[in-house]
Parts: sequence; structure tokens; C-alpha cells
Amino acid sequence: MEACYSKVKPARVKAPVLAAYSAEVAETLGLDLNDFASPEFRSQFAQAFSGNELIEGMDPYAMCYGGHQFGNWAGQLGDGRAINLGEIVNPAGDRWALQLKGSGETPYSRGGDGLAVLRSSVREFLCSEAMFHLGVPTTRALSLVTTGEQVMRDMFYDGNAKFEPGAIVCRVAPSFTRFGNFQIFASRGDNKTLTHLLDFTIANDFPHLDDNASNKTDSYVKMFHEVCVATSKMVVHWMRVGFVHGVMNTDNMSILGLTIDYGPYGWLEDFDPMWTPNTTDAQGRRYCFGNQPGIAQWNLLQLANALYPIIGDAKPLQEGLEIAAETYKNQWQAMMASKLGLKTFDESTDEELTDRLAEVLQLAETDMTIFYRRLANVPSEITPEQSDDQVIAILMDAYYDPDKLTVDVKKQIADWLRDYQQRLAHDATPEQERRENMNAVNPNYVLRNYLAQLAIDKAESGDYAMIDELLDVLRNPYDEQLGKETFAAKRPEWARNRPGCSTLSCSS
Ligand code: AMP
Ligand code: MG
Repeated sequence: MEACYSKVKPARVKAPVLAAYSAEVAETLGLDLNDFASPEFRSQFAQAFSGNELIEGMDPYAMCYGGHQFGNWAGQLGDGRAINLGEIVNPAGDRWALQLKGSGETPYSRGGDGLAVLRSSVREFLCSEAMFHLGVPTTRALSLVTTGEQVMRDMFYDGNAKFEPGAIVCRVAPSFTRFGNFQIFASRGDNKTLTHLLDFTIANDFPHLDDNASNKTDSYVKMFHEVCVATSKMVVHWMRVGFVHGVMNTDNMSILGLTIDYGPYGWLEDFDPMWTPNTTDAQGRRYCFGNQPGIAQWNLLQLANALYPIIGDAKPLQEGLEIAAETYKNQWQAMMASKLGLKTFDESTDEELTDRLAEVLQLAETDMTIFYRRLANVPSEITPEQSDDQVIAILMDAYYDPDKLTVDVKKQIADWLRDYQQRLAHDATPEQERRENMNAVNPNYVLRNYLAQLAIDKAESGDYAMIDELLDVLRNPYDEQLGKETFAAKRPEWARNRPGCSTLSCSS
């Protein structure tokens, strides 16, 4: 009842093979990259990070948490297929928790097998690293290990179950604590454990708030306020890069404001605020791109509710929610200004400019990523005699069907661009400088849904090269990389409706 976690051993797997690893995470943890060249080391590594062999000091456990799923309280969930191996302090003195995802049943598996398939593991591995290099707060991924075992999955819950190769990702983060870790004890009225968990969390994850032993409530409030700020900042980043989490349940919200639990996430290709990659959410679209800020706020409210029994006063919690909303607004405005290459967001002009931009982006199927990259090339000065066609020519790459743009649509895009140019002229940032500033926040490469799927197709036939190739390209997402242009191109037509490229489910 009062358990925050349960000790559990990872299941043994048949034939673990190290399919991919993140050099940056390995280095962060103090590993020597040269070792990865040795087959013996790779084999030992695969044994350890499949959970087959525990390294001295590891004392694995699974965490207990609850959560609101799709807006409804779902009761106890917990790490049903994640097992924490423990924490290490790296040579720089930073503490990192290591967690295997897909390493077998735990007391929280609720009838599930505790396993993960290669498809979803490749997606989690690649996306966590891609997000990190984009500058988005995220959990990291050390390794992707195939298990040599087959796992039964019904990908679209439509009676077409089949065997898929199993895999395990080792995730790495300062902490994997979720909103749901607090919610579960609040839901049980177990204030003792809730307080215990709060004290533990402050000591470990918010140590700068730990000096206030005489007024612990104050520390709890400050912690909540920090969660509010961090969560809002994270979602602003998602909106900047076009990331849709897909399952923003409160059990998938990290108290450190890290993007966590990469499931049926997706990247906006066509700028459609209603888009969600998650077929499980296709009806309600609760977690679609445009809803993410509001859902973050709703989730924070649930966390506030969970902390209320301990804090005993609604006012500071309400203040936290206001801080969240305020932070989101300010950070979003600053983010939009940076995406547009503006010095600051001037509400008197830029609210309208960005509102209209959102409309312009929805007039025709427009690739968000390419649009912003091309926008950086727009000259700061208007050439008055230019026709609409001439004005928008520089953006044409971003349109999925440029031939279908009507005269009226072209006019609206051109009019917006002219107003944008006028706004740029007002700022008078030198063109080259503006371009560089914009290209530093508008990625050239994101983990397009179909690219991940191509890497998965190959991985399922035993070829992991494309995982490494993508990892490499996504290491420098803001650069133009010679020979890697196809990775920055529009989604090809064949991928429009292919499962895995456009639609995903929670089955993983
Ligand atoms: P998710 O939608 O992946 O965040 O998972 C929601 C809950 O279901 C979490 O508590 C997971 O640990 C659990 N879960 C998901 N897949 C499995 C599985 N194959 N076996 C056991 N538990 C699972
Ligand atoms: Mg989850």
C-alpha cells in the first residue's frame, strides 16, 4: 500500500545484441567510447543493458504511480515494463538514473507482458536523442538492445496480432518521477507516503529547495511552481519544433519538465493544429498538436490537486497555475519572435502577425519545418513591383501540392509575407544575421515519421545502419548537411497514409 516502488529483477532474454548506442549519453555516463569497438565489450554491454547481468551496485526496482489517462482517473498504473537499474554519479558529479524499458513483468504490469518491440524501441531511442540535440528537455537513451525474442503485438488492436522482434532501450534521466507518482498517494488519502515522496523528491531533484526544514510547505509550493515553469517551457519547445507527444496522460508527465515516454508521438509535417499521430486519440483529438499547451495546464492542475492535501491551501497552488500560463505565454511569444527572426515579440503588431501566420499555414498543405527554413531566406526588403507568384516563390518547397494553390491562396500568403517583410524592415537586423538566428531555432532535420519507419523496416531485417545514420544527421539538426538533403525533404507521397508513418497506436 505505502510502497513508492517494488524491487524486481529484469527478465532474462535469449540473445541480446547491442543494435545502437548514443555516444553522447555513453560519454556523459563516463564510458570510454573506444570500448564500443570491441566485440567483447559490446557483448558484455548487451548483457548488462538487456538486464541479463546486473552490474555491481544495481538494485533494480519499478515505480508505483497512477494517472489520468485521456482525462479520466485510471487508478494505479506504475512501471509496467520499465525497471530502474539504479543511479550513478558521473565524473562531473551529476546524478543519472538508468532505466530499462521492455525488460519484463513487474508488480505493475497489470496483465501486460512487460516487453517492448523493436519498432517502438527504435522510435524511443532515436527521438529522445533527436529531441536533445534540438534543445528540447527530454529523457535520454543510452542504448537499444535487441533481445533475440519474439513479442506478440496487435499493432492496431484490430485482431491482426503478429510476432515482432523484442528490444530494450536503456533510458537515462536525472529522475523518472512523474506527476502520477504523487497522484497515486493523494488518491488513496495516504498523506504520509505523499509527504515522504515529496521530501525525497525535493532532496534529490530540487536540492536547492532543501534548505528550508522549518517551513517544508514553502519548499513544496516552490517545487510545484518550478514544475509549472519547466512544464510550460517544455511545451513551448514542442510547439517550436512541431512535436506531438500523442499521450499526454499525467503518468507521462515528468516533474522535471522532461519529454518522457515516447509512444505514438509524431512530427508535424503539414501544419495542422488538429493533427495527432495517435489513432487511439483520433476521435477526441485531446492530445493533438494545438491542444498541448492547454493539456499541460490541465495536467498541472491535477498535480496541484494531488499536492493540496499536504499544502492545505489552494492559493499558492492557484498561483502556480497562473505562473504556468504566464510562462507559457511569455516563452511562446519569445519563441515565435525567434522563429520569425524578430528581436522581440511586440504585442501591438506581432500578435496579429502570428495569428495570421497560423491561418496562412493552414490554407494549403504546408510543411512546417521547411516553411520556417525557407522563411529565413526571404529578403528583408520588399520589391514593390513583384507579383504574388514572385513573392512566394521562395517558399514553394514547403507546399505539398504547389500546383493546387489558388490565386486567392497565393495572394493571402504573399500579403502576409509583405507584412512580414515590413516588420523585418522595422527591426533592421542585417539579413545574414537574421538568417543565422532563424536557422538556429528552426530545425532543418527533424525525425520525420516516415524516416523513423524506414529505419525500423531495415532494423526488422537485421540492418541497424539507418538508425546510426539518422542519429548522426539528427545530431546537428540546425545545419545543412551535404549529401543528407533527402532527410530534410518533404514526406514522400507513399508515406502519407502508411501505418507507422502517419498513424500510430499505443501498442508498443
Ligand atoms: P504508456 O501508454 O506506454 O505510457 O503506458 C501506460 C501504462 O501501461 C504504464 O503504466 C505502462 O507501464 C503500462 N504498459 C504499457 N505497455 C505495457 C506492457 N507491454 N506490459 C506491461 N505494462 C505495460
Ligand atoms: Mg507511460
